[in-house]
Amino acid sequence: MIAIDTAACTGCGACIATCPTRSLRRARKAVAYTPDSCRGDRSCVEICPAGAIGLKVEPLP
Ligand code: SF4
Repeated sequence: MIAIDTAACTGCGACIATCPTRSLRRARKAVAYTPDSCRGDRSCVEICPAGAIGLKVEPLP
């Protein structure tokens, strides 16, 4: 899971292009995220030039 800081996002699209599971897409503001297909490979976190994406750790059930 990731968290996107929509205020920091510039809409450059780098995260969309790098996502191997196509879990990110353009939205009216910033990007939209589909958590079900995300496998948390961190490619978007590492490529974002604005530092707008962070990895979210889910608590164990
Ligand atoms: S890489 Fe960062 S700044 Fe660019 S669209 Fe994705 S979240 Fe926004």
